[in-house]
Amino acid sequence: GLAERLQGTLDKIRGKGKVTEADVKEMMREVRLALLEADVNFKVVKQFVNRVKERAVGQEVMKSLTPGQQVIKVVNDELKELMGGEQSKINVADKPPTVVMMVGLQGAGKTTTTAKLANHLRKDHNRKPLLVGADVYRPAAIDQLETLGKQLDMPVFSLGTEANPVDIAKQAMEEAKANHNDYVIIDTAGRLHVDEELMEELENIKAVTEPEEVLLVVDAMTGQDAVNVADSFNNQLDLSGVVMTKLDGDTRGGAAISIKAVTDTPIKFAGMGEKIDALEPFHPDRMASRILGMGDVLSLIEKAQTDVDEEKAKELERKMRSNDMTFDDFLEQLSQVKKMGPLDEILGMMPGANKMKGLKNAKVDDKQLAHIEAIIRSMTKEERDNPSVLNGSRKKRIARGSGTSVPEVNRLLKQFNEMKKMMKQMSSMQKGKKKGGGLN
Ligand code: GDP
Ligand code: MG
Repeated sequence: GLAERLQGTLDKIRGKGKVTEADVKEMMREVRLALLEADVNFKVVKQFVNRVKERAVGQEVMKSLTPGQQVIKVVNDELKELMGGEQSKINVADKPPTVVMMVGLQGAGKTTTTAKLANHLRKDHNRKPLLVGADVYRPAAIDQLETLGKQLDMPVFSLGTEANPVDIAKQAMEEAKANHNDYVIIDTAGRLHVDEELMEELENIKAVTEPEEVLLVVDAMTGQDAVNVADSFNNQLDLSGVVMTKLDGDTRGGAAISIKAVTDTPIKFAGMGEKIDALEPFHPDRMASRILGMGDVLSLIEKAQTDVDEEKAKELERKMRSNDMTFDDFLEQLSQVKKMGPLDEILGMMPGANKMKGLKNAKVDDKQLAHIEAIIRSMTKEERDNPSVLNGSRKKRIARGSGTSVPEVNRLLKQFNEMKKMMKQMSSMQKGKKKGGGLN
């Protein structure tokens, strides 16, 4: 991945007091390779590297930064600019309802994102959306949306699979006006590939509903293909924004980096999982930091604050930054973390988490969480405070007591150690920040 690739060079340069032109050159070589490896469009890579070189070499060093930090900052800033700079918000029509048309290829995540967006609009903006099922081709597409609508307790408008999608859209507008819905989110059909017929249908829906937003839903895991798809949809439909889904599974970040540069269309939201609340406004600065492997403390803390009450969030934050945590702290954290969502999602936002082999691909599900809890609860106080006393026979006892196995106990110990290492890294980064030396 990009982060791993850059980490070595960044680590080297981070410790330096002075950066030479040769350092910048070497670093840019790594950056270039890393971006190409991450499947970033080659034209974008070329422009990017040139811009960073221009800015990094011969620049006056800021007082609060070391030269090494400054180069990293330039890379970070330019990555952020490449992805649109500021956060792009969702448009609101002058006269309600605001129509949002979701378009994209089959399987990209349109239907899921329709529901996620509706949930977000109601939860964070107090809106009253109407969902519209206009995918009449894919079997069960309307059922899928109706199920999601029930789950959210939100109205879904559809006319069955025999109706014409343009008629559905037209009637949905009247329905929304009658019921005072302030947003209309239209889930349209997709194909496996871009084709004329699909585009014509989408153009017609667009013509009758005059949407404020035409959002292309693309699968981040498809890399450069996502960028090509965005380009063709944009040419036909004049997109207002992109929703990048499955960023939770994308380790390369190539599509996120190139899409704005190639199509001049901002990414507005990021899909971070299959659950209905796994949608986040897209923040270019945070994404840049995440790609660079600096983690995303901001997102993490924000998430913690919405899901856990303020005081507990502060406590959690403190614990995460202290590097002397015990298994008891870990246990306490687990119960907080469980409220925040899937653990692997949370870990992905932590600085250095991408470097942790043991955790990187660990899909931690509820069952595993229950095992972890059971293992820790089977430890004595001494063992929780000081895991280094855990020898073979103690581990066997714990495995038996928790109904797990010795390999499982070992795995938890390893993850715990990795996590402690990470906490240390995080706290030293925070110290740097306080001195004004960190990245924004
Ligand atoms: P559509 O054909 O474009 O309507 O796609 P769907 O909404 O039916 O989604 C296709 C699959 O992708 C489903 O299994 C979704 O659960 C999954 N999916 C959608 N968004 C995300 C995401 O952000 N992350 C992950 N991991 N899966 C997603
Ligand atoms: Mg669908």
